[in-house]
Amino acid sequence: MLPIVHRNIGWIEVICGSMFSGKTEELIRRLRRAIIARQKVKIFKPKIDTRYSEDHIVSHSDLKIPSLVVENVWDILEQSLEAQVVGIDEAQFFDEDLVEVCQKLANMGKRVIVAGLDQDYRGEPFDPIPQLLAVAEYITKTHAICVICGNPANHTYRKTSDEARVIVGSDDVYEARCRNCFVLPREKESPVKITKRTSRKKKRSNE
Ligand code: ZN
Repeated sequence: MLPIVHRNIGWIEVICGSMFSGKTEELIRRLRRAIIARQKVKIFKPKIDTRYSEDHIVSHSDLKIPSLVVENVWDILEQSLEAQVVGIDEAQFFDEDLVEVCQKLANMGKRVIVAGLDQDYRGEPFDPIPQLLAVAEYITKTHAICVICGNPANHTYRKTSDEARVIVGSDDVYEARCRNCFVLPREKESPVKITKRTSRKKKRSNE
């Protein structure tokens, strides 16, 4: 996707989806084209993700591009002042300030391209990606293929019984699954019960 926008204006693009859906590949593809056009590009990833490389972002298919590792999301702002294009990979590992940092960069006239998981292994929205989606100009949802049945996969299934939200791993720990084949650990024990729930919004307004 090449946004039909214009000089001197920034914007935010988000590439999100499950693991093995090609998010990083798509991020690298967009950044490469900007580099070929001799735009000033800066690329970042959080310190937590050292699965493949310390100083590159690397896709599962072994595409790679040099990147800077940052501990704090505000470091991205500081180090991007000269950049025209800012790429951020594994964005779900940053805290909620990511949204403010991306907004500031876009307001400064930069193209900001962010890739990240939109759901955790329980299928819950993975902050701060949902908040970023709300303010982004362009959203691309990538899909993997379900390893069980071959349907498009929207979920990341954890094969181990660990319950921490963040466990860094690859296909040794995770696999892509579709809605039908994605079963939450707690539902394995007790089949899905349909209980009537008051909508959260309604509840709030009654308080
Ligand atoms: Zn499936």
